Amino acid sequence: MIISVASGKGGTGKTLVATSLALALSDKRKVQLLDCDVEEPDDHIFLHLAINQSESVMIPVPKIDEVKCTYCGKCAEACVYNAIAVLKKKVLVFPELCHGCGACSYLCPESAISEVGRQVGVVETGESGNIEFIQGRLAIGEPMAPPIIRDVKKHIDRAREAIVDVPPGTSCPVVEAVKNSDFCLLVTEPTPFGLNDLSMAVELMKKLRIACGVIINRDGVGDGKTEQYCQDQGIPILLKIPLDRNIARLCSKGVPLIEGMPDWRKAFVALFQNIEQIVTAS
Ligand code: SF4
Ligand code: SF4
Repeated sequence: MIISVASGKGGTGKTLVATSLALALSDKRKVQLLDCDVEEPDDHIFLHLAINQSESVMIPVPKIDEVKCTYCGKCAEACVYNAIAVLKKKVLVFPELCHGCGACSYLCPESAISEVGRQVGVVETGESGNIEFIQGRLAIGEPMAPPIIRDVKKHIDRAREAIVDVPPGTSCPVVEAVKNSDFCLLVTEPTPFGLNDLSMAVELMKKLRIACGVIINRDGVGDGKTEQYCQDQGIPILLKIPLDRNIARLCSKGVPLIEGMPDWRKAFVALFQNIEQIVTAS
């Protein structure tokens, strides 16, 4: 089963949930934890694991053969990302804008475009006990997370439980990360900001037809509107984690919740069992 852990907004406690769920499951089985928050992967800090392998993520960008090029402009017309501009006697390529879709080289009537690889980040792997860990890391200054997330997810082993830590928000990297999940946990906090972003994340899950449930973190702040919203939408609240200075202290030190407070282990095992039931019933 693939369980993604998402949140409409950053800082709601996704890492706390993803790492504690992976650790709770790893007591009895091998699990995978995939950190797809490629702009700022931080699960490895909580798991204290060593990264032992790293592979480059490349995307193909166009290289123009100006001897063959007739400056017809078809490549620039084809590129919806404005990554090519054709001048009178010059073709300009803007590699940072290129998504590596290949449309320009496919459509060039003179076969004047070849493709060269450009590194946009890395995929790193490591291990800690029964947890196989995979994370993506976007190169500094690079804007495009989806190719790295795709490469991270190529490591998913369907024979195991896989926990996917999704980037915050509801944009393209989130879609790429949650795609093909069996279930999505939406971590939120019970504040107006939290509710606003949760509702956007719920709409996204509906569009992607992914079953979801909510975890309310820092329960006790804000108001009861998040619970009311979940009830109205028929979305189960699967866990509440209270606003607690000790939990905040553990997080700030990079200690997973279920290691710092072992009583929480049972709650995370029960959370997984609830998800299993929901997925089996759907
Ligand atoms: S489509 Fe090919 S021939 Fe036309 S401008 Fe682009 S590279 Fe040159
Ligand atoms: S590969 Fe796609 S995104 Fe890149 S320049 Fe060509 S058409 Fe544009």
